[in-house]
Amino acid sequence: MADCIFCKIATGEIPAKIAKRSADAVAFHDLTPQAPVHVLVIPTMHFASARDARGPAGEAVLGRLVAFATEVATELGLDTRGYRLVTNTGPDGGQSVFHLHLHLLGGRPLGWPPG
Ligand code: AMP
Repeated sequence: MADCIFCKIATGEIPAKIAKRSADAVAFHDLTPQAPVHVLVIPTMHFASARDARGPAGEAVLGRLVAFATEVATELGLDTRGYRLVTNTGPDGGQSVFHLHLHLLGGRPLGWPPG
């Protein structure tokens, strides 16, 4: 989608520190990490947020995206201590980039509930 920063990261038009790629997803390190490991996991197909990814196509993408994120977590050494996968949705969710993404956070104990 034109003017979507994460679409441009997916195509390589904007540089990012890539952690892993699959046929339909990209994982890259967050510019402003909130934990020792903070990776964003995005589908290459544009959905504005999780609520826009309903229906058969979206469900397939979301299922593969979560599975892919767990592979990234394993490769980054997070399986033993664990991690958090979260997707912010809309203004109350704190979403600032409107291309569906999972935050993969780990490397320290994470507080709950979030702010
Ligand atoms: P959210 O607020 O849930 O929409 O998350 C957006 C995330 O994208 C934030 O954690 C930002 O730090 C991160 N971010 C924004 N631009 C970039 C970029 N060019 N490369 C890597 N991370 C980015």
